[in-house]
Amino acid sequence: VGALEIKWSKAPCRFCGTGCGVMVGVKDGQVVASHGDTQAEVNRGLNCVKGYFLSKIMYGADRLTTPLMRKRNGVYDKDGEFEPVSWDEAFGLMAERAKKVLKEKGPTAIGMFGSGQWTIFEGYAATKLMRAGFRSNNLDPNARHCMASAAYAFMRTFGMDEPMGCYDDFEAADAFVLWGSNMAEMHPILWTRLADRRLGHEHVKVAVLSTFTHRSMDLADIPVVFKPGTDLAILNYIANHIITTGRVNEDFVNKHTVFMRGETDIGYGLRPEDPRETSAKGAANAANMEPMDFEAYKKLVSEYTLEKVAELSGVEKSFLEELAELYADPSRKVMSLWTMGFNQHVRGVWANQMVYNIHLLTGKISEPGNSPFSLTGQPSACGTAREVGTFAHRLPADLVVTNPEHRKHAEEIWKLPAGLLPDKPGFHAVEQDRMLKDGKLNFYWVQVNNNIQASPNSSNEAYPGYRNPDNFIVVSDAYPTVTAMSADIILPAAMWVEKEGAYGNAERRTHVWHQLVQAPGEARSDLWQLAEFSKRFTTDEVWPQEILDANPAYRGKTLFDVLYGNGNVDKFPRSEINPDYANNEATEFGFYIQKGLFEEYATFGRGHGHDLAPYDTYHEVRGLRWPVVDGKETRWRYREGLDPYVKPGEGVKFYGRPDGKAVILGVPYEPPAESPDDEFDIWLVTGRVLEHWHSGSMTLRVPELYKAFPGARCFMNADDARKRGINQGAEVRVISRRGEIRSRIETRGRNRMPSGVIFVPWFDASQLINKVTLDATDPISKQTDYKKCAVKIVPV
Ligand code: SF4
Repeated sequence: VGALEIKWSKAPCRFCGTGCGVMVGVKDGQVVASHGDTQAEVNRGLNCVKGYFLSKIMYGADRLTTPLMRKRNGVYDKDGEFEPVSWDEAFGLMAERAKKVLKEKGPTAIGMFGSGQWTIFEGYAATKLMRAGFRSNNLDPNARHCMASAAYAFMRTFGMDEPMGCYDDFEAADAFVLWGSNMAEMHPILWTRLADRRLGHEHVKVAVLSTFTHRSMDLADIPVVFKPGTDLAILNYIANHIITTGRVNEDFVNKHTVFMRGETDIGYGLRPEDPRETSAKGAANAANMEPMDFEAYKKLVSEYTLEKVAELSGVEKSFLEELAELYADPSRKVMSLWTMGFNQHVRGVWANQMVYNIHLLTGKISEPGNSPFSLTGQPSACGTAREVGTFAHRLPADLVVTNPEHRKHAEEIWKLPAGLLPDKPGFHAVEQDRMLKDGKLNFYWVQVNNNIQASPNSSNEAYPGYRNPDNFIVVSDAYPTVTAMSADIILPAAMWVEKEGAYGNAERRTHVWHQLVQAPGEARSDLWQLAEFSKRFTTDEVWPQEILDANPAYRGKTLFDVLYGNGNVDKFPRSEINPDYANNEATEFGFYIQKGLFEEYATFGRGHGHDLAPYDTYHEVRGLRWPVVDGKETRWRYREGLDPYVKPGEGVKFYGRPDGKAVILGVPYEPPAESPDDEFDIWLVTGRVLEHWHSGSMTLRVPELYKAFPGARCFMNADDARKRGINQGAEVRVISRRGEIRSRIETRGRNRMPSGVIFVPWFDASQLINKVTLDATDPISKQTDYKKCAVKIVPV
């Protein structure tokens, strides 16, 4: 009888970039159950263990329900204790501090850090508030730590972001190559599709490359455990193998590619005074690419012989040859998959581009089953972090702040005065931490992420910045994370189906859900917080006088009026909302604000290869993959007959680039920023585990997930442990040049480590492994390398 009273509605999963559909059961105003959505193409009714327990993530005992401010004797004090305050008091102090910083130091002293867990409207609202409202490009998402390298590589190779293929490739490929991706734990539902294909078709092969043996290796026909960083050499060896065995698809290469040489010796994105930075030229020219020809490229990769790469990588020659043959064999369709193994890499952009090299050399691209596929970590890493322009250098729809035409286009769509948008890229994630510590970023707002736990070298860089007396820090979250507890003000956030939302997953699929329940207490969505805060500022307070003098009609308006309400209030009335569902934001702002923002954002991409369907359509379907043209989604891009932007007779066209050709990039192997030595004698790799999402702030509050994996462990090779006199389960100190934590040794279990490498997951706030990691970044993408630093293990 009880089940009959449950109302079921669709939504995407709150966690990973796979973007599974779930059915959410609501009874008496509470989410009581969820299950996989059988109508969702992505997961066909399945969920992974995190998805099964989605219904519990909102009901942790310590959910934040009221704004909190640090106070002593009744007034704000940075060293005071958190006390409940009203929204009015919280926003009042925030506005006062932001105005003071703007007046004294200007827009570059204001910053914001968001994530690919923002809904599309939230990221879009944030980008407008920061760039157009406060005129600061110091907005970055934690996707910077996650897939900035992928985004840069797409732009450099194809001139457009995001994959050309889609998940349908899983049912069409004859071989799968996982480059540093443990899909069995990190993208489990896609792993079931891969496993179905492999186990149901004898000819299908799976190669798994990693720096240690993990669950995905269980299915590997070709298991490849390589020394950290040497994947670059393996990629060049494969290109060399394709060329020397005469398997280059010359017709494809001649018609659809150009060869470019990348700038080399580009440094590691460390602070300039760091001794590891001295041997490099630094990042100034990092993004340079110069034309080269096929012969020069052939010569460059010819150095990567089987013998040399086997020696460098520590991989058996037979495995390397088998791997190369998967790509070289013209009869095999190959899907390459990667996530953090490539992206969290000091040469992550190169690694991404080098796998495109292989697909382009063989013409194995942009058709069913032939698919270089960049997986994403967060649920809207693509839809929000990348597409609406929350990176410090970007505007919506692949536009960039440094291009005057792009800024003009954005100002026109946003109905803002010409010349308002700032033209210099803002501070990226790691730089934001450094600027906070150095007192150059003084008003800082963090939404939907746990930055202190996530940032590299956090106790030396991120944490001191939060506690710097010159800085005022605001954190919006649903739970009291270590980041929230380091702030001056904590704002309680509504999460997932407590608000209407939209996400974009890894295969360009945009999906939308309704608000199904009310958030507890006074918790409000990030969109509401941004929009409500914007009412506290007038244009006269934040915009330059010369812009207002030239555009007097904008004088005296609130930022809410010019950023969010402008033209949308009458155009998107509340009456357009499905009356069966709540919509707090629309109720409080008096119009359908989410639809208004979405439709405005969609105008950036329509007609430019990034067409979205009308907003209401997404409430009816289980997501659609853009570009959506004439009501039809696009599964494969850049090929005639599959992509509406490729005209009859054009065959293949990489239309993101002016010449319609993709780039094959010639670059060498370069070593990591830090390698083990006599003192710090072992590699540290960090990452996730199946049961926990990111920093564990949600999943650790689900009893079943907590019990399944209650605390981080230090996975170590048994011989390495024995040599140090350490037993299974013993407590140890994990020490780097930057900091240390305590953990317990695990020599068994799901990860089997080769000698010389340990793995420590980062979900556990009681073992903040990012105190130990190195803040080296890819100098092109500025993405952090969490996979390679040197540590020592000392028994307690
Ligand atoms: Fe699907 Fe990822 Fe959610 Fe698991 S966590 S149910 S794989 S979207």
